[in-house]
Amino acid sequence: SFPAEAVPQAPEDPLFGLMRAYKADESPNKVDLGIGAYRDNNGKPWVLPVVKKADDVIRSDPDLNHEYLPIAGLASFTSKAAELSLGASSAALAEKRVASVQTISGTGAVHLGALFLAKFYKVDGANRTVYVSNPTWANHNQIFTNVGLPIATYPYFDKQTKGLDIQGMLKALADAPERSIVLLHACAHNPTGVDPSPEQWRDIAEVMKAKKHFPFFDTAYQGFASGDLDRDAGAIRYFVEQGFELVIAQSFSKNLGLYGERAGAFHYVAAPASDATATTTRVASQLAILQRSEISNPPIYGAKVASTVLNDPALFAEWQENLRTMSGRIIAMREALRSKLEEYGTPGTWNHITDQIGMFSFTGLSEAQVAKLRSDFHVYMTKNGRISMAGLNTSNIEYFAKAVDSVVR
Ligand code: PMP
Repeated sequence: SFPAEAVPQAPEDPLFGLMRAYKADESPNKVDLGIGAYRDNNGKPWVLPVVKKADDVIRSDPDLNHEYLPIAGLASFTSKAAELSLGASSAALAEKRVASVQTISGTGAVHLGALFLAKFYKVDGANRTVYVSNPTWANHNQIFTNVGLPIATYPYFDKQTKGLDIQGMLKALADAPERSIVLLHACAHNPTGVDPSPEQWRDIAEVMKAKKHFPFFDTAYQGFASGDLDRDAGAIRYFVEQGFELVIAQSFSKNLGLYGERAGAFHYVAAPASDATATTTRVASQLAILQRSEISNPPIYGAKVASTVLNDPALFAEWQENLRTMSGRIIAMREALRSKLEEYGTPGTWNHITDQIGMFSFTGLSEAQVAKLRSDFHVYMTKNGRISMAGLNTSNIEYFAKAVDSVVR
């Protein structure tokens, strides 16, 4: 029989361990800055008003049933999801060189992309190593290594400026073997909150083009970062305009607040060429095979919600408003935190809090300071000093700022 006694104990996922510890803490002052999910100003999960409306539309359909979706998912969802990422006027869409598959949210999209590359990224001279930013979303590492693609890192976060180490990043991409796979966060980089500027994206694209690298975009925060869907898709659209062949892993967890519904998509975009549509068709056929063996077909509810919002102009406009509510509250919390720390004269500089964008801020707090925040102040955050901005609100921001001030002194 299978000797399961030989299976070693795996460590608990650090983020979910943190969540458990937070739940068990009985202090009325406790603050959860761990998990990356939006909270309203009362610290509560927020069902987007537009999602409630979409839900009403779906449930009022007398023909509503629970049949299987096709293998590639809900077409009215994936086609609009591709448009959202690439832009409605994208040449890639007009030229039919985009293959889209609905996935188990962003994680499933990264996984399907990883599996696809593990199977087919074998052309002569191609380097199968996946370059990820240092640091990156912790799951990237295990998703790629699970399918046998080795990981390497490129410099990203500059500890001095708490901004982007653009020179280090460009040099590493230039030094990497030709045709390496390079994972890029489209916007609202997790965990640092540091994004390249449009000019820096141009420099990154230029090096990647010269080295024939393969871009793998992870887009989990479109519209959630700046509040502007087009602006947050700027990097992806620029790379597509530059003629790259690339892939995109897209999540609707944050921007529609559909976390547990697992709504996402994977897109393959062929480079412009006379046979690009034929290539895309073949890629789609292989993605369908992989999808079939992994999950058969994706879940229906979240895709229906997203599809309802994406296909209805009035709901779409309301969604944009909801996105501005979420991103606006987070930006306001960044401003409040920075100004409190500056007001207290807390040692160090705090401009990075407002320079960074999206769900997370890389505070620069040390592991010891993070531990002290937890033991003395019941503040829960990952030990790399990352805070989820969404965990801050007008009721706890002063408490948190004072706690930071105290552990930094
Ligand atoms: N990529 C990044 C960078 C993320 O931050 C996340 C969410 N934490 C994801 C992908 C995927 O999330 P989900 O599977 O919920 O869409």
